[in-house]
Amino acid sequence: MPISYNKFSVQVHLDRIRDNYLLLRGKAANPIGVIKSDAYGHGLIPVARTLAAAGADTMAVGTVGEAIRLRKSGFDGRIIALLGALDKDEACSCHIGNITPFVFSLEHLQLLSDAAGDAPLPVALKFDTGMARLGFTEDDIPALLQALPALRGIRPALVASHLAVSDAPDQEDFTREQHDRFLRIVHALRDAGHPVQATIANSAGLLAYPEMHHDLQRPGIALYGANPLHGTAHQAMGSGLLAAMDVSTPVLQVHDLPKGRSISYGRTFVAQHDMRVAIVAAGYADAYSRGLSNKGVVVINEHRAPVVGRVCMQMTAVDVTNIPAVSSGDAAWLLGGPAADPVTPEELAAAWGTITYEVFCLLGLSPKSHTGA
Ligand SMILES: *Cc1c(COP(=O)(O)O)cnc(C)c1O
Repeated sequence: MPISYNKFSVQVHLDRIRDNYLLLRGKAANPIGVIKSDAYGHGLIPVARTLAAAGADTMAVGTVGEAIRLRKSGFDGRIIALLGALDKDEACSCHIGNITPFVFSLEHLQLLSDAAGDAPLPVALKFDTGMARLGFTEDDIPALLQALPALRGIRPALVASHLAVSDAPDQEDFTREQHDRFLRIVHALRDAGHPVQATIANSAGLLAYPEMHHDLQRPGIALYGANPLHGTAHQAMGSGLLAAMDVSTPVLQVHDLPKGRSISYGRTFVAQHDMRVAIVAAGYADAYSRGLSNKGVVVINEHRAPVVGRVCMQMTAVDVTNIPAVSSGDAAWLLGGPAADPVTPEELAAAWGTITYEVFCLLGLSPKSHTGA
C-alpha cells in the first residue's frame, strides 16, 4: 500500500481572528486591524477580508507596497501605512490609492505635499514619546505648526505614538509618562486648529489601559490570539483570545534509540534509557528554529513529544517513548493542534527564546491555507 503523508502545513483559522477582533471590540470602541508584515504571517488579504466583514473600517499595514496590495484587493476603507511614504513613488501611490501614511519628519511631509493632487491627503503625524525610534518629538511642535500651513495637499488627520512597555505592568510609570507626553502633543495640535484623531494603544495598551484608548486602538498580536500580557500580573486581561495559526508536519519514521546512543548532529543528546524517537519533517529551513534543539515540544496523537538533539534543516527528532502507536504519516503539531492541549504560541516562543510575534512572522513565511472564512 502506498504511504500517504500529510504535508508540512500552516493553517490559519480566520474564524478565530474574527472572534478575537469581536472580543477586542467588546473592550474598546474602535480597534483597527494591524495587519503589517503579511498580517504577522497570517496572510494580508484573507485577514483583511475577515476583519472588514466583522466591521473593521481601518487597516494598518507595514509598507505602501502592502497598502497598494490591500487597495487592489477591493478594500475601500481607510488604509494606514505604518512606515510611511519613503520616496516620491510611494508618495504618489498614497495620493492615488488614498493611503494614509505615518509621517515622522518635515522632509517626508514636504515629499507628500509635492506629490499632492486635488483632494488633500490625510496623513498621520507620528510622535516619539518614549520608544526613541521614529517620529517627531514634543520639541518639534513649534516648527511643525509653523510648517503645516505652507504644506498644500496634505491634511493632518491622525496623531499617533507607540508604547514601549504596555505589556509590562511593573513598568506602568513609564507607560504613564509616555501617555502624559502624548496628551500634551494632542492638545497642542488641536489647540492650533488641527482636528486630529488620537491613537496610542497597541494590543497590551488596549487590554490594560482603557484611559489610553482615545479615538482608535491599534491591536496586532491580540488579533492573532497571543496574549501580550501572558506571564504578567495582568495576564487575565488577555484571556479568551484564540491562537489562529496551526502548524503541522508528518512523522517520517519511528525507531528505537537504545540507552547510550546519541542522536543528530553534534551528539548533543544521549539516551539515558531505552527510547523510541520519531523523525518529523520540519527543520530550520521551515523556520522551525535550530534554537529549539533539545528545547521544543510537539504534539503527536494528543501527547507531547519533546525535541531531542539538534534541529536539522528539514528534520527534527522527538521523543515518543511514552506515546502509543506512533507511525509514519501521523501528524506532528509544531504549533497549535488538539484543542485539549495545543502547543501555545507563548510556550513555543519561550522555548525558542523569542516572542510570539517572531514565531508567527517566521512560521507564516511558508505557504498557508485558510479556513473558517
Ligand atoms: C505593530 C504595531 C502595532 C501593534 O502592536 P501589537 O503589540 O502587536 O498590538 C501598533 N502600532 C504600531 C505603530 C505598530 O507598528
